[in-house]
Amino acid sequence: MSTERRLSEEPREFGFDTRQLHAGQRPDPNTGARAVPIFQTTSYVFEDPESAGAYFNLQEYGNTYSRIMNPTVAVFEERVGNLEGAAGGVAFASGIAAQTAALFTLLEPGDHVVSSAALYGGTVNQFKHLLRKLNVELTWVDPDDPAAWREAVRPNTKAFFGETIGNPAGNVLDIEALATVAHDHELPLIVDNTFATPYLCRPIEWGADIVIHSATKFLGGHGTSIGGVVCEAGTFNWSNGRFPVVASPSPAYHGLQFHETFGMYGYLMKLRAESLRDLGAALSPFNAFLFLQGIETLSLRMERHVVNALAVAEFLESHELTSNVTYPGLPRSRYAPLVEKYLPLGAGAVFSFDCAGGREGGQDLIRNVSLWSHLANVGDAKSLIIHPASTTHRQLSDAELAAAGVGPGTIRLSVGTESVDDLIWDLDQALDRVR
Ligand code: PLP
Repeated sequence: MSTERRLSEEPREFGFDTRQLHAGQRPDPNTGARAVPIFQTTSYVFEDPESAGAYFNLQEYGNTYSRIMNPTVAVFEERVGNLEGAAGGVAFASGIAAQTAALFTLLEPGDHVVSSAALYGGTVNQFKHLLRKLNVELTWVDPDDPAAWREAVRPNTKAFFGETIGNPAGNVLDIEALATVAHDHELPLIVDNTFATPYLCRPIEWGADIVIHSATKFLGGHGTSIGGVVCEAGTFNWSNGRFPVVASPSPAYHGLQFHETFGMYGYLMKLRAESLRDLGAALSPFNAFLFLQGIETLSLRMERHVVNALAVAEFLESHELTSNVTYPGLPRSRYAPLVEKYLPLGAGAVFSFDCAGGREGGQDLIRNVSLWSHLANVGDAKSLIIHPASTTHRQLSDAELAAAGVGPGTIRLSVGTESVDDLIWDLDQALDRVR
């Protein structure tokens, strides 16, 4: 046997750039198609009643119905799970649906969640209203203060929740410190990694148990589709006595004990077989296909996003009409040590700043930009701009706005991959008009 052959037979850990193109997929065995085919089908023909029964009993893993699983969606799930270093993933129709399902799977009425107060406004709304309707209590804590998280734990606490890079305050979560506090209390740490993407940070490597994405943002990367995904490390002990909802026989699945039966895949199986089945927020195969196109270039885009974001942040920091530039990648940022630890390749591309003139100044700036698109999204290859107090964070009280780091003149940017000089030129001329 030649040396060359022996080497190629050694198991190899492929790099991120390779896995973002290949993980979870082989060329289609029936057609040879190299791209991931779009399996636009609701259902799958069973071979016989016995195999159909085995699928529905979860004794064998096979396609049944596209609300629960689909081969195109499965490649997307496996690819994100792989890039995050997770046991696997389950996709949803949106990022919000993903976090609803992630929590539904482990919560019961009467439970309690501890959450960072600096979150995407839609998540704040969801937690405040939906969780209350489900009789789940919530404590908001300062994301920067691990002691506050520890003090907030109660006997009925079931999870910690935070964003790797907060939207839009740009705070960086001390994932390792919070995972330690969570695990001291036998709780899972859930991290929304939307703004960092697995290219810039993999929370599981720092102790997080569940990672959530709005794939709508950088994973898709082109502003075409809404979707989300939940990944789980597969290492959390759901049988520690605190989570009968995951570990005990499930009345919603004829008495199946998910953790005991599926071990490291127990939570993910329950997430799919019960939460996705019952909430019904399935990702469409076409959107999964578009997300896969985006992920193929994730690292390349993120490299440009972070270079452009830093240049725009530096420009704004030096401008006399702007203040409070929250880009955590700036050397003077209070988060610089956390960026060095968790985000060594760059601190993402979404941040905010305050425009002189308060609400009117901020709105004037938005009126006068031409290249930046005024819209409610982030993570597009194109540069985006918005005034959170009148849009994404509109439902929040003043106190909640302040906790989320949003002032009346705050502007949020999602810096795209255009020629950075053009982006700075456009902001500069718009600021001149504010003046
Ligand atoms: N998480 C973060 C950090 C977000 O910014 C968003 C949306 O902006 C979401 C979750 C919700 O995702 P989706 O809009 O895909 O439901």
